[in-house]
Amino acid sequence: SKVPPITLNNGVEMPQLGFGVWQVPDAEAETAVAAALEAGYRSIDTAAAYGNEEGTGRAIAASGVPREDLFVTTKLWNTDHGYDSTLRAFDASLSKLGLDHVDLYLIHWPTPARGRYVDTYRAFEKLYAEGRVRAIGVSNFQREHLEHLIAETSVVPAVDQIELHPHLQQRAAREYHAQQGIATEAWSPLGQGKGLLEVPAIVAIAQKHGRTPAQVVLRWHIQLGNVVIPKSVTPSRIEENIDVFGFSLDTEDLAAISALDEGRRLGPDPATLN
Ligand code: NAD
Repeated sequence: SKVPPITLNNGVEMPQLGFGVWQVPDAEAETAVAAALEAGYRSIDTAAAYGNEEGTGRAIAASGVPREDLFVTTKLWNTDHGYDSTLRAFDASLSKLGLDHVDLYLIHWPTPARGRYVDTYRAFEKLYAEGRVRAIGVSNFQREHLEHLIAETSVVPAVDQIELHPHLQQRAAREYHAQQGIATEAWSPLGQGKGLLEVPAIVAIAQKHGRTPAQVVLRWHIQLGNVVIPKSVTPSRIEENIDVFGFSLDTEDLAAISALDEGRRLGPDPATLN
């Protein structure tokens, strides 16, 4: 494979780089996932809330890639929190994907005001025990949510998928994840492609290595140990974003990117989103 794996806390291997499909309409997701599989991606990150599990599933089925070579992640939406509703939502996701198991199932947001993420996760533990998911984890969980979850349940989450890019480097969260054996997965790893890819320090590093700014940012994540799931629907960018294993950033490059942290979110605050 083009992408090296990381080993999750239960021994399951997950490609360190995958393909994200947020904001891609269902029919377009089918085309984009097909292009990604063709380019060598083997990990796909979708969610019930994205409305494209069916298109993603159709692309997987049509690709001919053996199921055991794929790593499929989906996520439980906020309105489905709760034990029984989680089991129903999981069945619906599997059926839309056309699969008999997923590799990773995530609680999309903690939605602490609902107060149901522990019940939700107990249903995840049941799905895990039944072998219908190979690993279970969370997304957008902050330290206090993880501490509460770990105290109340028995399977430490394999992954916490959080907003993470050079303008929001999440140092404290990454350190806590490492202490707990939780893999850090970066969403919006390219900062949604907005101003980040024009930042002079990143453009300069890209020129120095004969690479693109997007490749520099993805390479920074890889060297930090993050799992990354960049999104694009443009075939040339889909190919560019997976081609980040043939060069390395040096300590000077890493220090220059490290200096770009502004603690600035693009997405919602997990403490208040419901
Ligand atoms: P991203 O950081 O991956 O940026 C994607 C955008 O960057 C593209 O739409 C395009 O405009 C631009 N881009 C991509 N490749 C480029 C390239 N090579 N050159 C120039 N511009 C390029 O943003 P994202 O889609 O928000 O995040 C990636 C994935 O993370 C999502 O698709 C989704 O799977 C996941 N995600 C999860 C959550 C969550 O709450 N768990 C939230 C947001 C995103």
